[in-house]
Amino acid sequence: MPTTPPNSPPLRHETTAGNYFVANYPPFAFWKPEFVPQFEAALAANNVSAAPSFGQYVHIPFCRKRCHFCYFKVYTDKDSSEIRGYLDALLKELTVYANQPAVRGRKPKFVYFGGGTPSYLSPDQLRFLTDGMKRLLPWDEVEEVTFEAEPGTLTDHKLQAIRDLGVTRLSLGIEHFDDHILEINGRAHRSREIQRAYAFAREIGFPQINIDLIAGMVEETDEKWREAVAKAVALQPDSVTIYQMEVPYNTGIYQEMKATGKLVAPVADWETKRAWVDYAYREFEKVGYTVTSGTTVVRDPAKVKFIYRQGLFTGADILSIGVASFGHLNGVHYQNHHEFQPYVDAVNSGKLPVYRAYAPPADERYIREFILQLKLGSVSAEKFKAKFGTDPRDQFAQPLARLKEWGFLTNGGDRIGVTRDGLLQIDRLLHEFFKPEHNTGRYA
Ligand code: SF4
Repeated sequence: MPTTPPNSPPLRHETTAGNYFVANYPPFAFWKPEFVPQFEAALAANNVSAAPSFGQYVHIPFCRKRCHFCYFKVYTDKDSSEIRGYLDALLKELTVYANQPAVRGRKPKFVYFGGGTPSYLSPDQLRFLTDGMKRLLPWDEVEEVTFEAEPGTLTDHKLQAIRDLGVTRLSLGIEHFDDHILEINGRAHRSREIQRAYAFAREIGFPQINIDLIAGMVEETDEKWREAVAKAVALQPDSVTIYQMEVPYNTGIYQEMKATGKLVAPVADWETKRAWVDYAYREFEKVGYTVTSGTTVVRDPAKVKFIYRQGLFTGADILSIGVASFGHLNGVHYQNHHEFQPYVDAVNSGKLPVYRAYAPPADERYIREFILQLKLGSVSAEKFKAKFGTDPRDQFAQPLARLKEWGFLTNGGDRIGVTRDGLLQIDRLLHEFFKPEHNTGRYA
């Protein structure tokens, strides 16, 4: 059972409202509309980007219904002409990028379709979108295409179409196997659809199938979690991503809390959620899986890669398109308009739909890569020194000493490694490495 060492940063035992997980650095609140000209200048620059690789992210913001824990920008009411208008907008946006000096002639190494629910689109819509994308930035050097799918949207016909587009990594948003838990948390699919979709996907032969689970959905119990883990193990997926339930302010769960004056979310406390993930990790390890981050286990790490995450964590240029999507090009972070119509209108008027941006100085790029890689459980100090010229053991001597004192670091020379207990709560520990002015949103 994971523990909280004395003197470690305070963590509310209950799950209260707010973002817990660290997805980027500096936090999005520091990205501003007034920095967009810096992004435009970076795009217009003729210098070759120093990024180690180049990939694309495409946001598909449509879902069958909104899950109560969802904090993404999703729409459940768009008809086929609005969807077609959105796909047109995506391709127009990509056309503008493809003509910019910082992008022109570059070929993606990875492509990621996220959402929302990319599998909400029909095979024809998907072909229209991906044919257009390939014409603008050819996929002949692509090594990985990830596609997020909701089991209830998949038929064998659609899965075959998805595979035929070139998808190599299918990521199934299963979240849980219990029908009551799926229903009460607002999921659109049920367990029967999971089994059917998974069997089709295996039959078709996707090179990699990932399944997502969430520990701590509303009405989760020890017994139901153990059953869910057993079912996940039985599927033998190539990788499993397990999230601990967080309750950001823009979720249905928080709206309900606000309406009823509750401060604590109706989900398990953080210790319980960590224990559930720990239990899942141990069950997967029993059958040969390897824990590869605070949220993932992998069946065969020598074969199963996640090139998109590798790129995201090591400073790759990621050309992101779509409403609310965020990316990074030629040294500048950027994020698109949050709302559907302003996004579509901006693109249709020939403009980039970028709402805010941020050009991190060198020290913040250093922090960003270090903390994101620490989420994988281990960072090579020498590799970092070779890339940035400074040894993280010197740069972060104080926060590393604190983590060590709290018992979250392993000893290991070049390897700055995190213990299992540390890995299960890594996101709150990452704030130790933030610049003080960026620590405003700490969940504690
Ligand atoms: S399927 Fe995913 S993106 Fe869609 S509403 Fe549910 S959590 Fe949000």
